[in-house]
Amino acid sequence: CGIVGYAGYNEAAPFLLEGLQKLEYRGYDSAGIAVFSDKVRTMKSQGRLATLREKVDAAGGIPGTLGIGHTRWATHGAPNDINSHPHTSMSGRITVVHNGIIENYIPLKEELESQGVVFRSETDTEVVAQLFDKLYDGDLVGTLIKVIGRIRGSYALGILCTDYPDTLLAVRKDSPMIIGLGEHENYIASDIPAVLDHTRNYYLLNDNEIAIIKADSVELLDTDRNPIHRDIYTVDYDI
Ligand code: GLU
Repeated sequence: CGIVGYAGYNEAAPFLLEGLQKLEYRGYDSAGIAVFSDKVRTMKSQGRLATLREKVDAAGGIPGTLGIGHTRWATHGAPNDINSHPHTSMSGRITVVHNGIIENYIPLKEELESQGVVFRSETDTEVVAQLFDKLYDGDLVGTLIKVIGRIRGSYALGILCTDYPDTLLAVRKDSPMIIGLGEHENYIASDIPAVLDHTRNYYLLNDNEIAIIKADSVELLDTDRNPIHRDIYTVDYDI
């Protein structure tokens, strides 16, 4: 029920865990993070964020400066470790966090299974990771446009692709998402409190707008790949 993401030059995991904590008020039954350096390392856990934090600490942290995190409020599939997000495609190339519901996940899952894709979880979300990987042709944005043309329902998505070690991809429809604009680091989050310790500047992402987020740039595109100009909002209150 909460999403965070980080692209910058500092370690991603501490921000992801802290950001998820700030989104706890949204409610959740499990949590997880994925951080990309030489490969994507994912840790997830049913239950409290403290349990996830203990796992991460016990592993000595997760190295890397690009990552995504999620608190889940299960809609499809029991709240357990396997169904917790992030979800990674069979090849390992695509990793996804998702808030919302993919309403047509059953026919998509059947189609992918008939093509040999093996699903690990019971979630609607895993369909997004597997479909993205199946349609992927090297063009990250082009593939995302194809994916959102095929999925129905509500989604805020944070996506990592191992071909793009500096890029965090985001899109949303009927689920909230903001983009925090920092100094040589940028963030995604379901809500502003997750980023407020780091920046007061942010973009609001509208339905079906795509964000390509790197440490030093944020690009917004519509589904025809036209650039979108967006005013920067500044939080001028204290919470
Ligand atoms: N529908 C997804 C699931 O059950 C995401 C739920 C959420 O928004 O946390 O895994």
